[in-house]
Amino acid sequence: MIIPLLKGLCLTFSRIFSKPITIRYPEQKHPMPARWRGVHYFRKNEAGETACVACGLCVAVCPNTCITLEIGEKPDGKRFPLKYEIDVWRCIFCGFCQDACPVNAINLGQGYEEAHYRKEDLVLNTKTLLSMYEEKI
Ligand code: SF4
Ligand code: SF4
Repeated sequence: MIIPLLKGLCLTFSRIFSKPITIRYPEQKHPMPARWRGVHYFRKNEAGETACVACGLCVAVCPNTCITLEIGEKPDGKRFPLKYEIDVWRCIFCGFCQDACPVNAINLGQGYEEAHYRKEDLVLNTKTLLSMYEEKI
């Protein structure tokens, strides 16, 4: 009867001075692995605009049809995303959109804190995607 108790106490005391494996979230954040596929962001071009050229490949490849794209055309004939939205509510973070993008415009970053009270906040538009690039998440 006393042996299991002593074993338990030995285990407890052996752990008292060891380094804790927990962190004080949210003050401290655990670094995510390099290949982590988190919240999307848009890479900017030299003009500070989205690098997206509205080719539509990410829309075609997305298995959950999360991406909405309306194509605009500049006076010089270049295409741009008039409307670009990702419904993160439905996204499975497969990364296919990032892999398919020929200009490396859409990326999945390191961010993982996407809890919102309103469902509409889970729809990321161009402005949000660009601001996430600034935050480097
Ligand atoms: S990560 Fe996958 S599911 Fe999410 S928007 Fe990209 S292609 Fe679609
Ligand atoms: S994000 Fe990339 S793949 Fe998607 S429409 Fe823009 S350029 Fe094409």
